[in-house]
Amino acid sequence: MRIIVQKYGGTSVGDVERIKMVARKSIQALQRADGLVVVVSAMAGETNKLVDLAHQINPRADERELDMLLSTGERVTIALLAMAIQALGYQARSFTGRQVGIVTDSTYTKARIKRVECDHIMDLLRQGTIAVVAGFQGIDEKQQVTTLGRGGSDLTAVALAAALKADICEIYTDVDGVYTTDPSIEPKARRLSRISHDEMLEMASLGAKVLQARCVEFAKRHNVPLVVKSTFEEGEGTLITREDADMEQVVVAGVACSRDLARITLHEVADRPGIAARIFNAIAAKNIVVDMIIQNISEHGLTDISFTVPRSEGRRALELLAPVVEEIGAAETKLNETIARVSIVGLGIRSHQGVAAKMFEALSREGINILMISTSEIKISCVIEEAYMERAVRALHAAFELDREPTAVRARAGTAGTAR
Ligand code: ADP
Ligand code: ASP
Ligand code: MG
Repeated sequence: MRIIVQKYGGTSVGDVERIKMVARKSIQALQRADGLVVVVSAMAGETNKLVDLAHQINPRADERELDMLLSTGERVTIALLAMAIQALGYQARSFTGRQVGIVTDSTYTKARIKRVECDHIMDLLRQGTIAVVAGFQGIDEKQQVTTLGRGGSDLTAVALAAALKADICEIYTDVDGVYTTDPSIEPKARRLSRISHDEMLEMASLGAKVLQARCVEFAKRHNVPLVVKSTFEEGEGTLITREDADMEQVVVAGVACSRDLARITLHEVADRPGIAARIFNAIAAKNIVVDMIIQNISEHGLTDISFTVPRSEGRRALELLAPVVEEIGAAETKLNETIARVSIVGLGIRSHQGVAAKMFEALSREGINILMISTSEIKISCVIEEAYMERAVRALHAAFELDREPTAVRARAGTAGTAR
């Protein structure tokens, strides 16, 4: 049985006309499948509006209530899309996360999927009914509504595709694939026809919101064929796929950036065993993810420790640290909420020399000061002042010649040497 799972993002269901268009596209897809599941997001901007409403009531709103609220955005679009499909004479039925069987842990606002119990929709699919599923939401073991983190409808789609052993999971959005960088920042960005799971995972984790990072991880682990396409125009899109030999020859595949971080610095803490553990245990206990950590060389037994956390959690992290700081006796604690991170990502970084130097040079030519650096096998990230983020992205895109098809790929296509 050939099952297709499609996911349409917020812009794709942003108004009634677009919902009708998605209904038509779903019906077309039904012609090439034996069963079709369509996952949808809330209308563009709706989830942000709901977050904003909650914050007007209480900036530290209870997360269970937050999830109860945020999950409503997707309820609107599933019902409307099911109605739109029915209006065209086809069968459709909407499902909330709970109804479709997405079972998660209890980490409100960023719950992890434990299992998907969706066998009960198979009969329906076999009969040609389109299952329209609310993205981004699930239910925990105690029947509480949870959400899967921002952008989480992508994960819903991939998780359902894995559970249903779908032939393909198609993510439809407002761009026609994954680009070398966010095309709204660099118009010269180039669509990639393929990208490896690991590069996509890094790109997504480092800010390329075209796919949610966890969905890429899930697709890799469960071998789900995943493609990103445009809702609004035809095209082959970008295939997220297993790594092959060609891919490592491309040093840098893309540039990602994010404003979603804040830096916390603890000045003059004692440089002795156990201090870092105390600091980071306090933060980890509340599920706050720490990204980069830097500790200076100590002087007179004292050192400075800086680290980054998601910006939305900077203040909470600072509050959590207050008793620890008192205990360990730091001289001063600072929060900087005007930083950003730019990153280069590529499988070739692990096997090519001089990549970091080239990145730092490109930033220095623009007069951009690097505040923090972190590297992994296939990425290099720099924290800089937020005001320079877009300029930095364009500079890195140019320095690594990402607007041009890489030589390795050109050669494979038999077009070596042709300028684009
Ligand atoms: P949806 O609502 O469909 O889920 P998103 O807004 O979450 O869509 O993701 C699509 C957006 O991701 C694009 O409009 C684009 O601005 C942004 N984006 C960031 N980095 C990239 C990239 N490398 N390639 C393509 N799009 C990117
Ligand atoms: N509506 C949710 C969000 O805005 C989930 C999604 O769009 O994927 O984050
Ligand atoms: Mg998205």
